[in-house]
Amino acid sequence: RVYAHQVQKELSPLPGVRNIVAVASGKGGVGKSTTAVNLALALQAEGAQVGVLDADVYGPSLPLLTGTSGKPDSPDGQNFNPKRNHGLQLMSIGYMIDEDTPVIWRGPMVTQALMQLATNTLWQDLDYLIIDFPPGTGDIALTLAQRIPMSAAIIVTTPQDVALIDAKKALKMFEKVEVPVLGIVENMSTHICSHCGHEEAIFGAGGGERMAQQYGRPLLGSLPLDIRIRSESDAGTPIVMAQPQSELTARYRLMARNV
Ligand code: ADP
Repeated sequence: RVYAHQVQKELSPLPGVRNIVAVASGKGGVGKSTTAVNLALALQAEGAQVGVLDADVYGPSLPLLTGTSGKPDSPDGQNFNPKRNHGLQLMSIGYMIDEDTPVIWRGPMVTQALMQLATNTLWQDLDYLIIDFPPGTGDIALTLAQRIPMSAAIIVTTPQDVALIDAKKALKMFEKVEVPVLGIVENMSTHICSHCGHEEAIFGAGGGERMAQQYGRPLLGSLPLDIRIRSESDAGTPIVMAQPQSELTARYRLMARNV
């Protein structure tokens, strides 16, 4: 068994980056990328310099979420300048490949490509690099957790049992490689009807809180399933940037203060 801290002694820090925070989940589709980008914008609103690395290689969503596309430019043919939008420094494997071309690489190639993205991006003076992690506890996620000198991880889940079961596995994976888990974010906690305001616990109630208690980690925040979060993301300006006065933005800001 190889521990991250054993490796991490030899891991050189990423140039230009002070803290690396993984945003991870057990299952896909629980809102990990949405949380990662809005958290990045919320940290920025608190005064930090923030970057996002989209490591969700089989479904890179950062280009869509931030309204960015096209190959990043390279000053020397080897390193890449991050893309910039909404004040963030951004890198995604999605910039390197066609949108409709599937990534059909094997695990080792994927990890190599992701390590290159992390190390060959010319990050500029970042307080935080948020890594949108591949979902699950497979080879790629585990290798990244061991090879990138992470300060902490955040686990995103919905309150539904099927999501929680896998979220717990993700939490344990980080504990095993000795990356501290900062806490849990419960996404899609309730649904708020945009017509009548009625609130409904579609995926069940209190799952995130129970998981937080079970593992002795704080619940960093909870976000409802709200059409504004989805529609602003799809339009390329996530809600924290698009609607700074919204009560939803306030929730992300609160979360950022706990990071
Ligand atoms: P993941 O990264 O876990 O696969 P995404 O962040 O891509 O999940 O979210 C999946 C879909 O759900 C996206 O279309 C996103 O806009 C939407 N979504 C995520 N969180 C919320 C939320 N709290 N309210 C409404 N839509 C959401």
